[in-house]
Amino acid sequence: MLELRGSVGKDGLNASDDVRVVQTLLVQIGLRPGLVNGTCGTVTIAAIQKFQGVFSTVPDGRIDPGGRTWKKLLESAAPAAGDPLSGWAGDCSQWTQQKKLRSLEPVFRAKIEQVILTLKNRKLQPSIVFGWRSVETQRKLFSEKKTTVLFSFHNAQFRDGTPNALAADIIDRRWAWTEAAHVNGFWNALGAAGKEQGLVWGGDWKAFPDIAHLQGRPNRALAKVRIESGL
Ligand SMILES: [Zn+2]
Repeated sequence: MLELRGSVGKDGLNASDDVRVVQTLLVQIGLRPGLVNGTCGTVTIAAIQKFQGVFSTVPDGRIDPGGRTWKKLLESAAPAAGDPLSGWAGDCSQWTQQKKLRSLEPVFRAKIEQVILTLKNRKLQPSIVFGWRSVETQRKLFSEKKTTVLFSFHNAQFRDGTPNALAADIIDRRWAWTEAAHVNGFWNALGAAGKEQGLVWGGDWKAFPDIAHLQGRPNRALAKVRIESGL
């Protein structure tokens, strides 16, 4: 369960983790709080006010822990009861495409959605294999020598364990990792579409190329993301 430790918004305490949670929820309900970066500026405050305007005549631009706006925000962003999206346990490679998208950090997700659209427009059939995955899954892949790292951008999450992944592995559902994917130019198209969105493509890595992999930050940011994830 998400909780705020302090107030967010106009004249709020605006602790970075709290602001990030609010920004993520605002994105989830379709508002535009600006970059999801933990900094509460005028754009984030305006988005809070816009949201409050739906149910309040005095939108003060501030969210207090346990207060009315916070409760409304959680209600609005929560998946419907019984929706499998509400659980993040289980085999994440078997989740629906929609759920894999939901496991991505919101700004990264918007970029991946754009990549998928670009590829579909080129008559390709992109499919996400992994969005977020747990650290336990990462360890298993590591022991099977399917990854070279014990913590990756796929493992990025909020401190409460909610997925907030900064990497996605995308294949063409017809070809997966077979030679046909190369022959038909899928990997090059994926890399180009990703870089168009400012993403890092694993196909550019000389030592250990990872052609299906797109990530939202450069490798040097991994340690910082790990700390932010509380892992
Ligand atoms: Zn990957």
